[in-house]
Amino acid sequence: MVRPKYMGGLGFRDIEIFNLALLARQAWRLLINPNSLCAQILKAVYFPSGDILRAQVGNNPSKTWRAICDGIEVLKQGLIKRIGDGDSTHIWNCNWIPRTGMFTPIASKVANPPSRVCELIDHTSMSWKSEEVRKYFLEIDSEAILQIPLSMRKQEECWAWHHERNGLFSVRSAYRMLIEAKRRREDYFEGRGSCSDAGRNYKEWKQLWKLKLPSKIKVFCWRLALDSIPTASVLKRKNLAATPECKICGAEDDTWDHSLLRCTMSRCVWALLDEDLSELLASLRIVDPKQWLFFMCSNVPQAESTHILVTCWAIWNARRKFIHEGIMQSPFSIMTMAKRLIEELEFVNRAQFKETSKCQPRLGSQCWRAPESGFSKLKTDAAVSKSGSHGAVAAVCRDN
Ligand SMILES: [Zn+2]
Repeated sequence: MVRPKYMGGLGFRDIEIFNLALLARQAWRLLINPNSLCAQILKAVYFPSGDILRAQVGNNPSKTWRAICDGIEVLKQGLIKRIGDGDSTHIWNCNWIPRTGMFTPIASKVANPPSRVCELIDHTSMSWKSEEVRKYFLEIDSEAILQIPLSMRKQEECWAWHHERNGLFSVRSAYRMLIEAKRRREDYFEGRGSCSDAGRNYKEWKQLWKLKLPSKIKVFCWRLALDSIPTASVLKRKNLAATPECKICGAEDDTWDHSLLRCTMSRCVWALLDEDLSELLASLRIVDPKQWLFFMCSNVPQAESTHILVTCWAIWNARRKFIHEGIMQSPFSIMTMAKRLIEELEFVNRAQFKETSKCQPRLGSQCWRAPESGFSKLKTDAAVSKSGSHGAVAAVCRDN
């Protein structure tokens, strides 16, 4: 439940990890503001020589310093050097290659490789000595290094936070980094192996939570995706029921698709639905409830998927009422209840759309205004591609 929603959790915050992200923010502030009073006092007491990244907890530390040291360890995991002339960056001990995974080179191909990044840069043309880079590093490293942009201007090297595009630390991205690391650790220990982001269905989970449905139905869908709605089969698996039999029709195995789609009671409700939808449901042969839901979210038009999911939720409620309270609802009343809910949802969504379109800013307020006579306005912008291999700058100067 503490996993983010895009990872299949409920998005509750993991307080311990969130606390570490907050401590990392304190460490970041001390790193980028070394002249602040607080940074100077801590430096004088705990690391009089050297910088904060090499500071040790030491003997008899205060609780505050001990906590900041925890923050420093987190910070080191996402901190990366922005290369200027390469003079202060150690090739093997310092994070400097911006990519996913390791920020340092994996290994050297030669016995005595250079130790400083400046030895890999041609300072006349401010470009990488590509032949030497390829000679010293593995191909995967050299390709990543050669994509790091170098500036023609004399630039001091500085620390940046890798997980934000602007290079500035944020608690949000630090929290996400730690959660991802925890997930990888759990996968490793539970023998699930590593898997790409696509294999983790991040996009599909996001789509599921973006459905325009009330929260109670989205939580129902989330539980369905994890195959944890308490059907008799799930209860038997958890030793909470003696038999996996359906309590309504007596079928042998009351799985999620039996409860919602194939039980006699469910089939009566679906029979009242549009023929196209009934045919679609009958033709689907997806056993995994998560994949079934993701198919609904991404391959079925929104109006139809809303209709199907709301009906599933209504059927599930009717089943619970019958099993636990002995109240049998007719298929027609279940369908009417679902339809009424869908109409209310459409009404609310239409009203919200009208509200948001009213709130659009007026274009007039963003129009360019001419400067006073005798002055000109210069507007500039610049951007670098995601890989960092090329960029562009543009400037427009106008006086009327
Ligand atoms: Zn049944």
